[in-house]
Amino acid sequence: MTTFDYDLFVIGGGSGGVRSARLAAAMGKKVAIAEEFRFGGTCVIRGCVPKKLYVYASQFPEYFEDAAGFGWQVGEARFDWPALVAAKEKEITRLEGLYRKGLENSGATILATRAELTGPNRVRLTATGEEVTAERILIAVGGHPTPHTDLPGHELCISSNEAFDLPALPKSILISGGGYIAVEFANIFHGLGVETTLIYRGKQILSRFDHDMRQGVQSAMIAKGIRIVCEDIITSVAEGEGGSRVVRTKAGETLTVDQVMLALGRVPNTGGLGLKAAGVAVNERGAILVDDYSRTNVPGIFALGDVTDRVQLTPVAIHEAMCFIETEFRGKPVSPDHDLIATAVFSQPEIGTVGLSEDEAAKTFGDLEIYRAEFRPMKATLSGRQEKTIMKLVVNAADRKVLGAHILGHEAGEMAQLLGISLKAGVTKDDFDRTMAVHPTAAEELVTMYQPSYRVRNGQRV
Ligand code: NDP
Repeated sequence: MTTFDYDLFVIGGGSGGVRSARLAAAMGKKVAIAEEFRFGGTCVIRGCVPKKLYVYASQFPEYFEDAAGFGWQVGEARFDWPALVAAKEKEITRLEGLYRKGLENSGATILATRAELTGPNRVRLTATGEEVTAERILIAVGGHPTPHTDLPGHELCISSNEAFDLPALPKSILISGGGYIAVEFANIFHGLGVETTLIYRGKQILSRFDHDMRQGVQSAMIAKGIRIVCEDIITSVAEGEGGSRVVRTKAGETLTVDQVMLALGRVPNTGGLGLKAAGVAVNERGAILVDDYSRTNVPGIFALGDVTDRVQLTPVAIHEAMCFIETEFRGKPVSPDHDLIATAVFSQPEIGTVGLSEDEAAKTFGDLEIYRAEFRPMKATLSGRQEKTIMKLVVNAADRKVLGAHILGHEAGEMAQLLGISLKAGVTKDDFDRTMAVHPTAAEELVTMYQPSYRVRNGQRV
């Protein structure tokens, strides 16, 4: 029988890799995990966690303004960017420590090095040059922002990686893209007082979301003072006076800004990983191809999370990790369930969503009932803020099943989590109707939309 140095060797200390290593080690397996940078991966170090902290920071100016409607006089407020960066750094360092402690407590060996495959069961640790063997190798190395190298001057632009730690808060920024990252950062920078422009190639931002959410968030962002330029792209970026960036666009506009941020999607971190040496197949985007059980084409090599380009979300990587452990170490084959993933865009206002958009549902279902409410949230009555909450249920008329639930407004992400449970359980509109409202909340609107706002039959609104 062949003996290996490890039962499991994990490459990458992000959400998926750490969960896999920790669970396998806790079962008594001999596990090593290699990470070249910091434990926690994109989510903890330069993604979800610092992003959410910066979203909170960027909301305060509106709170200060709103306070007057509730009788408060707030003095002059000043924002200190280095203080926010330092506080963020402290928090992610704390979280990184927890990730590391979890691994140590479970008995996994932590290797501070890059690791590359040299064969089906072999890995080279680049820090020492040492080669180790493992019965199973798990690749969970994540992805990085696409650098968009076709763009002249792309090297003068920043990505979300750099945005968190800029030495100074820019006075103005141009953000390219219309997805999660572009929209979230446009709101963050605007909230912090930066003159913000977003440029997007399509007609309306957030192309993969329900049209009411897209329309609602785009209008709200414009109303706040964010400039959104649609149906245009950046054609070049050059250095201007005093370190500024001079941007030209396809439509012929020239803009001078302090920073240009590209948020045009993320690509898998598969370069220089030795995939060729090990014979691991990738797709045209460089993502590792896996089957329903996160198995690559090479026996003994597995991959999960963003490097596989299935669904680029932290909870999905963690779920894939738990399925991997069940399948490979507990003898209970489970394939990850990617259906009905609830998600949030931390725009301002926030979007929380699960299931099909109206347009997606109309492609499959011939008769839809659309329940839609648009209202001014209670908090905005005294504050005087002009803002709307939108709630929408997409229902299959044939069996009353709720196919999609979409919310734009305060705490929409929190609500999406609970709606996710309901839709996963196969909730019908009748279940919503017989659920008592929680009063006074915004969420009660979800259970008090008794009549359809309109129907969609064979793709046509009637
Ligand atoms: P997205 O895929 O969300 O958006 C990419 C954007 O870039 C789209 O608007 C796309 O346009 C545009 N784009 C792509 N290529 C080009 C090009 N060549 N020229 C001009 N525009 C282009 O990617 P993000 O980078 O925003 O985020 C990456 C992933 O990270 C997300 O998909 C998400 O899974 C995850 N994420 C999740 C968050 C959350 O859960 N809140 C937050 C941040 C990230 P078009 O729409 O027309 O294709």
